[in-house]
Amino acid sequence: MTDPKAPSSEHLLRGLPASAGIAIGRAVIVHPLWWEGAPVPPPRGDVDSETERFRHAQQVVAEELDNIAERARRESPTLSSILEAHQMIVTDPVLSADIIDRISSGVSSEAAVVHEFERQRRTLLASTNSMFRDRVSDLDHMKEQMLSALRTGVPQVRRDGESIVVADTVSPHDMLADRQLGVRGYVMQSGGIDAHSSIIARDFGVPAVVSVAHSMTRIHDGDLLIIDGSAGVVICNPGASTLEHYQRQQDDERQQRLLQEDVDHTPIHSLDGVRITIEANIDVPEQVPVALRLGAEGLGLVRSEMMIASINEIPSIDEQVRWYGQICQNAGELPITIRAFDFGGDKIDVGQTYVEDNPALGLRGIRFLLSQPDILRDQFTALLMVARERPIRCMLPMITTQQELDRALEIIAACRAAHTEAHGDCPDVPIGIMIETPAAALSAESFASQVDFFSIGTNDLTQYTLAIDRTNDLVAGISDGLHPSVLKLISMTVSAARSAGIPVTVCGEMAGQSAAIDVLVGLGVSGVSVSSFALHDVRRRVRELDAESCQRLADISIRSRTAAEVRSHIDAFRSSSTKGASS
Ligand code: PEP
Ligand code: MG
Repeated sequence: MTDPKAPSSEHLLRGLPASAGIAIGRAVIVHPLWWEGAPVPPPRGDVDSETERFRHAQQVVAEELDNIAERARRESPTLSSILEAHQMIVTDPVLSADIIDRISSGVSSEAAVVHEFERQRRTLLASTNSMFRDRVSDLDHMKEQMLSALRTGVPQVRRDGESIVVADTVSPHDMLADRQLGVRGYVMQSGGIDAHSSIIARDFGVPAVVSVAHSMTRIHDGDLLIIDGSAGVVICNPGASTLEHYQRQQDDERQQRLLQEDVDHTPIHSLDGVRITIEANIDVPEQVPVALRLGAEGLGLVRSEMMIASINEIPSIDEQVRWYGQICQNAGELPITIRAFDFGGDKIDVGQTYVEDNPALGLRGIRFLLSQPDILRDQFTALLMVARERPIRCMLPMITTQQELDRALEIIAACRAAHTEAHGDCPDVPIGIMIETPAAALSAESFASQVDFFSIGTNDLTQYTLAIDRTNDLVAGISDGLHPSVLKLISMTVSAARSAGIPVTVCGEMAGQSAAIDVLVGLGVSGVSVSSFALHDVRRRVRELDAESCQRLADISIRSRTAAEVRSHIDAFRSSSTKGASS
């Protein structure tokens, strides 16, 4: 008979390569704790022992909140007030008494917690006071913590600097927290290459493989794992020779990364002298120094919604000013483009009190902001304060219709007027829009006269053009930004921008893929903004390109019928230009 505890032998799982690099570490399986309709366990003992279990879990969660409260008091008043609210929920005497009453009726602590938290939730949701409704996400979060403490003895699954997290998917919130703990890599059972969790892993340079079927059952807690994020493979319990091979590869990669930091910072031109700006996408201020070391000429996309990831709530104007100020300070003189909050879809949860069946087509990006215009007003007010000290640009996410653009510009104009009234003058903050939907690309000509620049978000443009959910692993394999339909929309956007004399860049992940940059230069974009770890290769490639030949490549690519045809044109182009260079 085989010993079920014996380490299983080496085996390999395949998925999609979401973030390059080798990671070696111990698996930490993270199960979702509770979801609507999940079965709750029966009691483990009599009423007294269940009550004791509940009391103990309550104490564990309260102590954990105490531990982080001290740090929060120094770093963030908003986070600090949220933690206080969490403490009040966890230690609320009425809620505790109701839970204990329920346990006395013979159910488990888990069942009592779920039942009473859900009852509170319904009461809050029914309130006409929006302040109470806004507390729902705090309540949900505390329920999760209590259930985790009941199940595992700790409020959250522990991970550390040795861990490789294995989960169905990982939220941006958790990824930012993992970053501080030094988590080495991710294996996700679902998700696509352009899902936000994949993008954040790339931005941090943390190896990740997604869409790995059955990974949560085929990998066990504590298994030794190797992730090859470039090949999209996960090796479980490797033998000595496999381990040695990947350790060597990991050392080589570390050397390569160090060499990549040794860049000259001169502006990049193609061989025939066309200037292409090459900037970095960032999610949090700590990523800025890495972007600079790797040669970013600016920050082309600051995903401001990530500011909310650690606190789950919209920060005050002062806190926003501090966050943007930190980015500016880290970026020195470099140009910075801050995107207004892009909530909705698979992004940050800000305690929405509604559920969308199809969030990608719902209150996402500018639609969310226009539904709660105070959020946009506060954000732009904060940006104007920052712009008094140093120039910044702002761009609006997911603009799709003329009405959305007009309304957003009206709000921005009102913020400018208020700022002028308060300060006597108003700094110039150029306003751009992201082109992320087919409708926006088709309307680019009229939008171009109203804004200062375009930035093409190919992640969403691909999702909406090909009708392929960027988070759905079932269709992740057929998503391709090089599809001729997507390229045509990029081309239309570039023509509109050029006619209006405004810059047009690409900040979607496609710009960082080696196959795509030749075509994007050929389509005539004025710059790209990519994940920091792609900067080196993109800078090098643009310097090797002849923009006029790239234009011919772009022409035939647009006239192709499939993404595969486009890719074969690119391959042929690359091998002929390599031959040309070597002859
Ligand atoms: C995009 O859609 O290409 C983009 C850059 O925005 P995000 O990935 O944040 O949706
Ligand atoms: Mg987008």
